[in-house]
Amino acid sequence: MVTRPEEISSIIRKQIERYGLAPQTSETGSVISVGDGIARVYGLADCKSGELLRFENGACGMAINLEEDNIGCVLMGDDRGIREGSAASRTGEMVSAPVGDGLIGRVVDPLGNPLDGKGPIEYSRKRPVEYPAPGVNDRKGVSTPMQTGITAIDAMVPIGRGQRELIIGDRQTGKTSVAIDTIINQKDTGVLCVYVAIGQKTSSVASLVETLRKFGAMDHVTVVSSPASEPASMQYIAPYAGCAIAEEFMYAQHKDVLIVYDDLSKHAVAYRAMSLLLRRPPGREAYPGDVFYLHSRLLERSARLSDELGGGSITALPIVETQAGDFSAYVPTNVISITDGQIYLQSDLFFSGQRPAINVGISVSRVGGSAQTKAMKTVAGSLRMNLAQYRELQVFAQFGSDLDKSTQDKLTQGERILESLKQPVNAPYTMEEQVILLFLATGKGLMDVPLTRVRAFNLGFLAYVKEKYADDVQKIASTGLFSHENGANLSRAIAEYKKTWH
Ligand code: ATP
Ligand code: MG
Repeated sequence: MVTRPEEISSIIRKQIERYGLAPQTSETGSVISVGDGIARVYGLADCKSGELLRFENGACGMAINLEEDNIGCVLMGDDRGIREGSAASRTGEMVSAPVGDGLIGRVVDPLGNPLDGKGPIEYSRKRPVEYPAPGVNDRKGVSTPMQTGITAIDAMVPIGRGQRELIIGDRQTGKTSVAIDTIINQKDTGVLCVYVAIGQKTSSVASLVETLRKFGAMDHVTVVSSPASEPASMQYIAPYAGCAIAEEFMYAQHKDVLIVYDDLSKHAVAYRAMSLLLRRPPGREAYPGDVFYLHSRLLERSARLSDELGGGSITALPIVETQAGDFSAYVPTNVISITDGQIYLQSDLFFSGQRPAINVGISVSRVGGSAQTKAMKTVAGSLRMNLAQYRELQVFAQFGSDLDKSTQDKLTQGERILESLKQPVNAPYTMEEQVILLFLATGKGLMDVPLTRVRAFNLGFLAYVKEKYADDVQKIASTGLFSHENGANLSRAIAEYKKTWH
């Protein structure tokens, strides 16, 4: 019979106990088995969960499983050079990440090592990657908008600072694009952004950083990347490390922060791999039992701090990928129940050309409404209703051609609204531009414009209004209101512009 090393250690330990000696505890233990990125260490009886361990060869690990006679530890570096009997010592610190201004504009791994070849990160402080979420009394209601620059979202699923809004959809439906556009739109708003890439291809992350740089957004963004090639443990801590970076900006500098987790499905998969290797019992879809806690303790850390704590907020945009539109799988349902709303992106809409492919019928924002500007509320109030009616009538229209005038009008109107909501990537609108375009679309201003020319008309009209009615544009932007006078002026502008437009 082969005796496993754990058993040998426990036998020796028992014998020592029998001699009346206390079991030895020390700050240095020894490895009893290693493989698949997991090491079991004997002799660290006081070790805390989440503590950083250092191995003989310089590699680090995180203590995850605290068992009676050994500790299960996930390795965060190379496991070559670690073997049975190697020494592993406690560091006394929790796994932590460098934080502060030195990280702005940088691309780092979850432990704060630079990945952009721009030299070492300058930092004076570290924060533990795991940190308790602020309690109820430390929080304040959401009331300031987090403009995405995407009209369909800002009008119908508005997001407020401090909110958690899930972006969910199948692969290649534009999930990342929504998040990146939102980041780009935070230029000049003072909002700092953290983008956490979990289990993505290094090449995708590189091209994304390139896009951010091209639009001058890298000045307010930190990218935390743990690519697919990294061990599961690094992918596991990546979102927590990103959150720690965001927390420093919120707690210490009272800034508004936007954090994107792209994506939590891959995060759950990495955690599952880790848990199975640690021999935790598998549950539904082979995930361990605490997958809900995995994401709830992460997303609860987003908050809007109360005035007593000095304010500041973390808005989270977690992304979840579904398989064939199945929103009821384990991880999607979990994250849906943790967040304050969802933006559903759908493949069929994407392929039919409706991009961003947001299904507005089922997308919701539970707290963002109170953060929406009055101007937007005024012009977008009827939008959902119009679109719902359109969808209903569209089904009937497929059957017959005999439609009365009012039905025909509603269809024409709906088509034009949907057309106006199409928006290419990296082309965010300001709030006042969105208000003007929505006033045009919902006020039946596009009824006589051919469908294929709606976008051109919209852009032309915007330019016209900005030139001829600059006062109105300026007023909407500065007050956040849409007055009767603004409405009257814009109606006049529509009539005037149509005369010049062919
Ligand atoms: P993945 O599942 O691979 O992460 P994703 O859901 O994050 O994909 P994106 O990478 O954002 O999707 O987008 C997929 C493709 O669709 C990209 O080529 C992107 O440029 C294009 N795309 C996204 N949004 C739009 C849009 N509004 N208009 C036109 N093209 C778009
Ligand atoms: Mg993506």
